[in-house]
Amino acid sequence: DSKLTEKNINDALKKAYDKYKGLKEGANADYIPALAKVDSNIFGIVLVTVDGKVYSVGDIESEVSIQSISKVFTMAKVTEEKGIDALPKNVGVDATGQVFNSIYAIEQHQGHEMNPLVNAGAITTTSMVAGKSYNEIWNKILGYYSDFAGRELTVLEDIYKSEAATNQRNQAIAHLMYAYGHIEGDPLQATDIYTRQCSVGVNAKDLAMMASTLANAGTNPVTGKDLVKAEDIPEILAVMATAGLYDDAGKWLYKTGLPAKSGVGGGIIAISPGKFGIAAISPPLDAAGNSVRAQKAIADISATLGGNPYEVQ
Ligand code: GLU
Repeated sequence: DSKLTEKNINDALKKAYDKYKGLKEGANADYIPALAKVDSNIFGIVLVTVDGKVYSVGDIESEVSIQSISKVFTMAKVTEEKGIDALPKNVGVDATGQVFNSIYAIEQHQGHEMNPLVNAGAITTTSMVAGKSYNEIWNKILGYYSDFAGRELTVLEDIYKSEAATNQRNQAIAHLMYAYGHIEGDPLQATDIYTRQCSVGVNAKDLAMMASTLANAGTNPVTGKDLVKAEDIPEILAVMATAGLYDDAGKWLYKTGLPAKSGVGGGIIAISPGKFGIAAISPPLDAAGNSVRAQKAIADISATLGGNPYEVQ
């Protein structure tokens, strides 16, 4: 790809970083108390090409909680374990038209017609990961995320504790999904494992490695590990395109064409299939819950590098 030269990529990253470094719009999420305390100045951008070259600018060391970005990787795990039809059947693959933690959306269709990237669908998806015990399921999830990142990830305990103490709404969602027959087993265990998966610490490089594995048809481009079957990638990216950026998923897709997922910790991943995965971290969020600087940086960089998959080259 002629636009994806080392110089173009480095220039695009640096330009976006310099342009948005001083931007002070948005605010940290605070409905999970520990998120309000995260340093708002953290700003890092990393792009990894499908041949495993890593480009970065800014803060690539600081970890934030992965939050809702985790939903993509648990969706991938369940898809690999249970087959491509399991999630559409049990939770759906449609935009709900409601907020990400909507209870109304559950009631509308008794827990069907949702998707794995909103809380009801995501907690249900977590409940579908096979395993005999809490620890077996949890270790499998953390190990899988770590394989995407190419290093051993850990939980940010202060974030986990803070969210576990305040996740009553998610507990209610899990109970409703149980009542409608979507969750088998203990809904509170599913909620707790989900809360833990949201608290995994990641830096911008980890997220970009995870994104590049999806861009590279499910194989980590640096470690060579196969994590998702290539044939399952289009469906996973389609759900990201549909519901990756909360209520602004449509606006984001219109602007960039990139399947993406954001989290309230301030991270965003985006995938240019067959080209690159990119991630940015910056905790202040806009009204829809998406990182202000991460959205702008990724959109600019992808436009410069021809990342939009709908663009015929
Ligand atoms: N753990 C968060 C919640 O369930 C995830 C929110 C997010 O990043 O969208 O509220």
